[in-house]
Amino acid sequence: MNNVIKLLPDHVANQIAAGEVVQRPASVVKELLENAIDAGATKVTLNIDQAGKALIQVIDNGKGMSMMDARMAFERHATSKIASADDLFKLHTKGFRGEALASVAAIAQVTLKTKTATDDLGTQLLIEGSKVIQQEPVVTPEGTMISVRNLFYNVPARRKFLKSDQVELRNITNEFHRVAMVHPQVAMVYKHNDSELFNLPISNYRQRIVNIMGSKTNEQLVPLEEQTDLVTITGFIGKPEYARKTKGSQFFFVNDRFIKHPYLHHAVTVAYEGLLKDKSNPSYFIYLKVPTDSVDINIHPTKTEVKFDNEHDLYAIVRASVKHALGQFSLNAIDFNKEPQYEVPYEVTKNNNTTSPRIDVNPDFNPFENDTKSRQTISNYSKPSSQPWEALYSGLETESTFVDETMVDATQESIFTSEENSKNIFQLQRKFIVSTLQSGLLVVHQHRAHERILYERLLKEITVQPATSQQLLFPLRFNLPVEEISILTELQEQLEHTGFIFKTLEQNVVELEGLPIQLKESDVATVFEAVIKDHQLETPASDFSQANMLAATLAKSMAIKTGTALTQIELEQIVDELFACKEPNTTPHHKKTFVNITGDHLNTKFD
Ligand code: ADP
Ligand code: MG
Repeated sequence: MNNVIKLLPDHVANQIAAGEVVQRPASVVKELLENAIDAGATKVTLNIDQAGKALIQVIDNGKGMSMMDARMAFERHATSKIASADDLFKLHTKGFRGEALASVAAIAQVTLKTKTATDDLGTQLLIEGSKVIQQEPVVTPEGTMISVRNLFYNVPARRKFLKSDQVELRNITNEFHRVAMVHPQVAMVYKHNDSELFNLPISNYRQRIVNIMGSKTNEQLVPLEEQTDLVTITGFIGKPEYARKTKGSQFFFVNDRFIKHPYLHHAVTVAYEGLLKDKSNPSYFIYLKVPTDSVDINIHPTKTEVKFDNEHDLYAIVRASVKHALGQFSLNAIDFNKEPQYEVPYEVTKNNNTTSPRIDVNPDFNPFENDTKSRQTISNYSKPSSQPWEALYSGLETESTFVDETMVDATQESIFTSEENSKNIFQLQRKFIVSTLQSGLLVVHQHRAHERILYERLLKEITVQPATSQQLLFPLRFNLPVEEISILTELQEQLEHTGFIFKTLEQNVVELEGLPIQLKESDVATVFEAVIKDHQLETPASDFSQANMLAATLAKSMAIKTGTALTQIELEQIVDELFACKEPNTTPHHKKTFVNITGDHLNTKFD
């Protein structure tokens, strides 16, 4: 019997593999640019002719290759970047598969010129369709120049499938952007048919984004900053009013690598909820740094798709940080022009070894205690003196009582410190809190504002700093179906953090000895009902989202209701507390908490 199984010749195997890595000129551009950056270049030039169909050339001033390495670089699985399978999970460089150059050389005519710092002469190498045509010493500057000519010259079927020059060039430009945007420390030049398209100097992230996207971008960017054990987030998001119908300026980078991630994209768009016109897309440039062993970048040959270990937590963190940034920005937009202040948001960690946030909310603080008592509580309320709300009120007629730098001290926390100021606030229809601002009228929705305040406090209690409870004189006892008790059991620890003390929680009996300070005994049953219902509707995917959901549910059912009359002091405290929140603009359910009616707007009413 004849043997029918044959090994494919190397050059054919290489061509097949090339199909995986090299789909179009842009794929070559990506691989070559990444190699140049990995080589430590501080300047990289990309020259393209005929949308990459004739020439793709990358010149770098990186560390170069020795003669031996230059030859080795074109062998399949030749890489200086990994030695064992374990290394795959620890990679900090772009490349790791060691097949880019081999793949490219299989389907194009490649010239390499390279020299290291220690060699006197460099190496020149010509390779066509995986065959080395020539190798010789050459005088060339330190670094590497690779020219890839006539892509797919030996695979006519693939060459036919290339798109118009316009489309291929656009793909190349996109790749250039993706690499350039995350390496502002590298000067980058990009020419097409000898005309310069980009010349990007060494700069910082913001400047680099602006240099790429255009000078108008600068005013549209809101900085993003967040640090947790799982991820460090930096970057910028676009102000909502600049969102466009077209998709486009949406960039995620993970450990300095561009990625596509529909799930995280969703987290960003959700954070914009209520702020965008129909079907418009916010722009964002978000740089994530995660521990290298918590992300798998190898699942796709072109490496734009990644898999994270903690996707659900990342989702929550990304969403919270974008909302936080948006909240800061829109507060800024109301009245003050200082730099937004960043707080570490809710601590999210695997093992709860958290650092305390910079704002400490006094867990004993009860806005509804009587006048003198709450005044006193407010004064131990430790808050940095540059809270947004101060500036928010900086234009009040009586501002000298509180804006004067010398008079702002730790005890002077309320913006309503004088009798006169107190007159600037009142309740409307037992639903709204109305006050004046320099720019016009502030109208706060009392229930929603309180919901936001409670939510932030509760979330913090659940995740970071347990609250103290009010002890009940007589235990409160009631019955619930067994399956509902089991939900409460699941949430028991988190509920206890908010102030519930369970004496009994078994079979169908709940018995409570203590309650959160803000909660009335008569409301406990309704609150539990809400918690159980929400939990049944949506089983949270992680501890963090569970905490998040519980805090939102409790806040909603505990917040003061519309129709409740409030005293002057209570009105003031709600406003103060709201603007001390991290995201004062909306409730945890994305509803507006306040509106600001500007003088300009009022003017239009008098036209
Ligand atoms: P990988 O980047 O995955 O290691 P490549 O096929 O892209 O695989 O490159 C193979 C090897 O060639 C690299 O590991 C590196 O050692 C070397 N190399 C490629 N490009 C350059 C360059 N511009 N400067 C210096 N060395 C390079
Ligand atoms: Mg590479």
